[in-house]
Amino acid sequence: MDQIKTGRFIAESRKELGLTQRQLADALSISDKTVSKWECGKGMPEVSLMLPLCETLHITVNDLLSGMRVAEAEYRKSAEENMMDLLRENQENRKRFVLAILCAAVTIVAVCALVAIAAFMENLPAAARIAVLFLALLTGIAGMGAATVLDAAAGHYECPHCKALFVPVMADYVNGVHTFTRRRLTCPKCGNRGMCRRRLTR
Ligand SMILES: [Zn+2]
Repeated sequence: MDQIKTGRFIAESRKELGLTQRQLADALSISDKTVSKWECGKGMPEVSLMLPLCETLHITVNDLLSGMRVAEAEYRKSAEENMMDLLRENQENRKRFVLAILCAAVTIVAVCALVAIAAFMENLPAAARIAVLFLALLTGIAGMGAATVLDAAAGHYECPHCKALFVPVMADYVNGVHTFTRRRLTCPKCGNRGMCRRRLTR
């Protein structure tokens, strides 16, 4: 944000409408000194004044903050880019979620197979049996760890109290009691603890 550019733009837009500083100030119920201050680049309009100012000057808040009229085509382009980013993010979240489930499933099968080998294979020396069990344990830890990381990275959780969307911190995530779609987490926004619903899309 460039105060001087914005100030110049306010002055230009005001003059285009044939308004004096005084007239603009009166329309906003503020002093003309404030308008003069903005136009000299010595301060930005307060947030509460931005919308009325933009309405009076027939400009958008985006124009005001950019210090120039942002072309409509450009505006649309940035809106489309934002939408594409969102779609891409949602797709990646779905992918991570499916991967997490696959990873967990493969791990369970692998661990069961190894335990079965250790338990039922005859003629297996005790040392080998222990080694296979140990391998099963390592596979279980690694697989579930990977599944947890993938699952935590997939999407956001929605706070039941304030409806804020957030990505949980890993420690909270791992400790959280959960069902398939909900998890007990602390909301970073309102600080309440509750069963937060998973949202793969925003
Ligand atoms: Zn909350």
